Amino acid sequence: MDLLKSRLLPVIALFASVLFLYFRIPSSKQSFDSDCSLLAHDHFWIVSNRVVTPRGVTPGAVEVKAGRINTVKEGEYNQLLLQNEHVLDYGDAVVMPGLIDVHAHLDEPGREEWEGFSTGTKAAAAGGITTLIDMPLNSFPSTVSEETLKLKIEAAKKKLYVDVGFWGGLVPENAFDTSALDKLLMAGALGLKSFMCPSGINDFPMTNSTHIKEGLKVLAKYKRPLLVHAEVVLESENNIELSSDESDPRSYTTYLKTRPPSWEEAAIRELKDASEETRLGGNAEGAHLHIVHLADSRTSLDLIKEAKSGGSSLTVETCPHYLAFSAEEIPDGDTRFKCAPPIRDEANRQSLWEALLEGHIDMLSSDHSPSIPDLKLFDEGDFLRAWGGISSLQFVLPITWSYGKAYGITLNQLTAWWSERPAKLACQANKGAIRSEMDADFVVWMPDVEFELDENYDIHHKHRNISAYLGKRLSGKVLATFVRGNLVYSEGKHSPAACGALILAKQ
Ligand SMILES: [Zn+2]
Repeated sequence: MDLLKSRLLPVIALFASVLFLYFRIPSSKQSFDSDCSLLAHDHFWIVSNRVVTPRGVTPGAVEVKAGRINTVKEGEYNQLLLQNEHVLDYGDAVVMPGLIDVHAHLDEPGREEWEGFSTGTKAAAAGGITTLIDMPLNSFPSTVSEETLKLKIEAAKKKLYVDVGFWGGLVPENAFDTSALDKLLMAGALGLKSFMCPSGINDFPMTNSTHIKEGLKVLAKYKRPLLVHAEVVLESENNIELSSDESDPRSYTTYLKTRPPSWEEAAIRELKDASEETRLGGNAEGAHLHIVHLADSRTSLDLIKEAKSGGSSLTVETCPHYLAFSAEEIPDGDTRFKCAPPIRDEANRQSLWEALLEGHIDMLSSDHSPSIPDLKLFDEGDFLRAWGGISSLQFVLPITWSYGKAYGITLNQLTAWWSERPAKLACQANKGAIRSEMDADFVVWMPDVEFELDENYDIHHKHRNISAYLGKRLSGKVLATFVRGNLVYSEGKHSPAACGALILAKQ
C-alpha cells in the first residue's frame, strides 16, 4: 500500500501542477493580472444553494467572465452544463451582491495615521464591502476643489483592495463659485457633501440653506446628489443649564443633552424646504438630496416622509450603530460610542428599525470615522472633548444581520439597504445586483456562523481598540469577497496586489 502511495504521489503532484498551470492561463483575451485575485483565472462559475437575485433567494449558478456577470442560472439548473467549467461551489453559504458603503472616512492624504486607503479597503474587503465612497473630510486637505480631488486620486492609487469613489465638499468658499464646483464635478466627484453644523475639521466649514440651494442648482446639471449632515446648532439649547449631576463629562447623558433631536429636526426642516427645488419644474430638478446618518426617528423622520410624499427627490440613510446600540447601555466614560448625531434612547432605536423595514429610511452606511486612539481620550473618558466617530467598516454586514434578526429582516432587504439603493445614490448602474452584465461584485457569507469580536479576531482597520463593537458576539461570517471578478478576500487572506478601481464620474 505504501509502495503504491509512493509511486502515485509524484504522478498526482505532476497532475496537480499541470492543472495549476492550466488555471494560471487567463481564459479570456483581456489582460488578467493574477496578483489581483486569489483565483488564478477570470472565467468561472460561482454556485450556491442561496444566491440573492432581484427575484429572491434561490439555488443558482453565476457565470463570471472578465470581471462581469455573464449569465445567472436561477433555480434548478443542469449540473452537466458546468462539467468542463471551473466551478466554485459554496454550498449553503449565501452569495449576495457586494456591499456598497456610501459613507466612509479613509482620511488620506494628510491623516493616514487615523486610517488610510490600504487599511480601510482591506477592512472593507474582509467585511464583504466591494465599493466604498470616501467622504471629502477628515483627510487633509479636504476634497473641496479639482486640485484637492486630484490629491485624493493620487494618494489612493495602488492602495485599493475594493473599488473607491469620492464625494466632493460643498463649503461656503465654493458654494457661489459655479465654475469651481463644475471643475470638481467634471474631475469625477460623484456628488457633494456638506455640513449644517461645525464639522470639527477647520478646512471644512459649515453651509447654510442658501449654500445648499446653490449647490443643488449646479448638481442638477450633472444629475448627482448632495449629501448633508443634518444638525443645526440651536443657540437656545446650546447653553442648556446642566445641573451638577448632569454636567459630568464622563456621563453619556451629559453628551446626549448637548446634542438634542431638535438640532436634527431644525436642519431637516430647512432641508425639506430646499429639497422642494428638486421637484419636477423646480430650480434644481435633476439634483437629489440625501440626508446622512439619521439618528432621530421621531419628528425628523416625519418631516422626511412629508418631503418625499410632496415629490422631492430625497433619500435618507442611517448607520448600524444607531440600530445596534441605545443610550441607556453606553457605559460612562466609554467614548468609543461617541458620534454625531448621538446614539439616542432604546425606543428611538426600535422606531429606526421600523422605519427601515417600512421603507422610510432608504439605506444603510457605515459612517466609519476613526481617529488616532489618543483623540478618544480613553483615560479621561470625557464625552464632550473626545473625538466623535464610530469605527465599524469591517463589521457592518454581521452587525446589521445580528441586530436585525429580531426584526425578521431578509437577505433581500439587506441587499436593498446595502447594495441596490446605495448603487443608485452613487449612480453606479453596473453595481448593486446579481444580474447579467453587472460587475461581478459579491460577498459570500454564512449568516448562521457566530464569532466573538475579541482580541484574537483579525481586524484590518488601523486602530482595532477604538471600535465600539469590540467584545460583541456577532452572527454572519464573511468567507469570500469578489470585486469585478477578482477574489480579493478569502478565508482571512487578501489578494497579493491592490487592484480596486477608482470610480470617477463621467460627464
Ligand atoms: Zn461621516
